Amino acid sequence: MMASIDYEAVSQVLIVFEFKAKGKDSQYQAIDEAIRSYKFIRNSCLRYWMDNKKVGKYDLNKYCKVLAKQYPFANKLNSQARQSAAECSWSAISRFYDNCKRKVPGKKGFPKFKKHARSVEYKTSGWKLSENRKAITFTDKNNIGRLKLKGTYDLHFSLGARSQAPAGGAGSHRYQLKDLKRVRIVRRADGYYVQFCISVDLKVETEPTGKAIGLDVGIKYFLADSSGNTIENPQFYRKAEKKLNRANRRKSKKYIRGAKPQSKNYHRARCQYARKHLRVSRQRKEYAKRIAYCVIHSNDVVAYEDLNIKGMVKNRHLAKSISDVAWSIFRHWLEYFAIKYGKLTIPVAPHNTSQNCSNCGNKVPKSLSTRTHICHHCGYSEDRDVNAAKNILKKALSTVGQTGSLKLGEIEPLLVLEQSCTRKFDL
Ligand SMILES: [Zn+2]
Repeated sequence: MMASIDYEAVSQVLIVFEFKAKGKDSQYQAIDEAIRSYKFIRNSCLRYWMDNKKVGKYDLNKYCKVLAKQYPFANKLNSQARQSAAECSWSAISRFYDNCKRKVPGKKGFPKFKKHARSVEYKTSGWKLSENRKAITFTDKNNIGRLKLKGTYDLHFSLGARSQAPAGGAGSHRYQLKDLKRVRIVRRADGYYVQFCISVDLKVETEPTGKAIGLDVGIKYFLADSSGNTIENPQFYRKAEKKLNRANRRKSKKYIRGAKPQSKNYHRARCQYARKHLRVSRQRKEYAKRIAYCVIHSNDVVAYEDLNIKGMVKNRHLAKSISDVAWSIFRHWLEYFAIKYGKLTIPVAPHNTSQNCSNCGNKVPKSLSTRTHICHHCGYSEDRDVNAAKNILKKALSTVGQTGSLKLGEIEPLLVLEQSCTRKFDL
């Protein structure tokens, strides 16, 4: 029954490679300026859409030219980067239209002006990779110049080829420049990064394991699976949280109300806090990725609940464990590895997965605090989350074949392969 799914069609995906950018202070200042111009164009396009009736995508593109003529700093930015800013603005607008059309309950996400921008995006012009692909030169009038790219990725080889062929083998081939769809410069608490958005063919042949598994995001556990295994929540986040809170308090203490500019000490404390935060979020991502990799490697079919994370985080009791376990990141990696290794992921609707008995199918109502499932119909008892995981797998296997429940293609928004978490994996 699973043979009917065409993996080939979905193995082409867009992913983002990230490198740390090394340059001089004057270059970083030029990047900041480019980011400011990019933000300015995005916000101006939004303003233009608000102030005029029936403004469409192409009107915004045209408006970029007007801005470039009017403002010398906007003119410094590469023309395709200007277009990208307009598109960025348009995607916020069309998301809003979409939500209105689909009658999404609650807020419709009216597009907002960006106050703090962190990135500037180029398309296929305005930059040039060096011959060895270890440096990039930005060629527009912003004078960012040549930045060295530091990182463990090798832009020379495609993902699939690298993992199949032995090191230096004949099978490895270069990314074609046409595969580089976008280049983005991002500012973070600990420096500047260059991201490459690349269209890649991920498919790698693997031996089938003959196993299927259901996963439940536990309240108590990071994960519980249908075979009865549980994975504990990572402790580092709670530990780090204490440190984070301390740094946050230090920051607040240095803040002087109404003072402009704030003191040097304040900015130092602010940067310290931001760097700590970055470290924790990287640890969390790394953890989620490692587990996802293991799950995909030991199973052919992986079923999990299709949770609406946004809706769940609103529930205060769950909020901590959900953000802790970084479920949505985990899910992205699960889908990424599934595509790469030709495995099947099946999200199922979460209704009653924790309430029903996985042994006899009867409903056994229980509150959030009930940790063990005990069925008074058939006498079956099991950990609450394991029972749910079993139900999830059952549900998934009964829906395989109805393509409506398969969301293989939906792995956008793009995965970002950050420099910090790349070492141990054969991506
Ligand atoms: Zn039962």
